[in-house]
Amino acid sequence: MLGRLIINADLVVKTGLHIGGGSSSVEIGGIDNSVIKNHKGEPYIPGSSLKGKLRSLTELAHNKMGKNEKGDNLPCNCGDCFICKIYGVSASEEIKNSDRLPTRIIVRDAFLKDSIAEDMRKKKGEFKDLELGYTESKWENSIDRLTSKANPRLFERVPEGTVFDLEVIYTIYNEEDINNFKHLIEGFQFLQDDYLGGNGTRGYGKVELNNIRFFIKTIKDYTSKQFGDIKASVNEINDTWIKNLKEQMTSTK
Ligand SMILES: [Zn+2]
Repeated sequence: MLGRLIINADLVVKTGLHIGGGSSSVEIGGIDNSVIKNHKGEPYIPGSSLKGKLRSLTELAHNKMGKNEKGDNLPCNCGDCFICKIYGVSASEEIKNSDRLPTRIIVRDAFLKDSIAEDMRKKKGEFKDLELGYTESKWENSIDRLTSKANPRLFERVPEGTVFDLEVIYTIYNEEDINNFKHLIEGFQFLQDDYLGGNGTRGYGKVELNNIRFFIKTIKDYTSKQFGDIKASVNEINDTWIKNLKEQMTSTK
């Protein structure tokens, strides 16, 4: 292993975000579809959701999406392409090839930024009209195709302006991983042009990554050092920046 790269960023919600909480979550105020929350009752973004989205957008862009016999989309599971290296393969594939290096990225669950959670609790500024603790509700109409009857359902959403603390850890085993890093950044860019969570086609879930900070931990000196400037947005990361990173990782091994 050469080291690890730790990426911290603000994940900013630009349009109402709905990541479903499943059946175990407590239903309140007649909401049919609640969002996932932590033990404190605050909404969060599961790392697995974000990682899955980054992977599928990258697979779509590079035509790497696999298909099963029924023609459903499946993640690539070849184990050799950059997508499998970054995002991993299925557990069964991992057992078959135990000499394979582990999945390169870890996406942590993203929790509300402290100052934002505080503003929400105090109903400050843009959160002054927040109906439910940390969320809002919105009616969505779907039309029954057989009866043409409207079927309104109430969705819980994380409101625009919410900021989550994002942390992604990228492990670098070899030079190839340094080269593949650009595909992770590309995934972040694809995400900004797509959506996170449900109801994306109704305009939900537009997000942006801002205030991006990179920290390098080389294996020789396992302390965290900030690499480069804070990037105001993910679009500022260019080839020169990645080249500098490469030099820094390889010169300290
Ligand atoms: Zn693959």
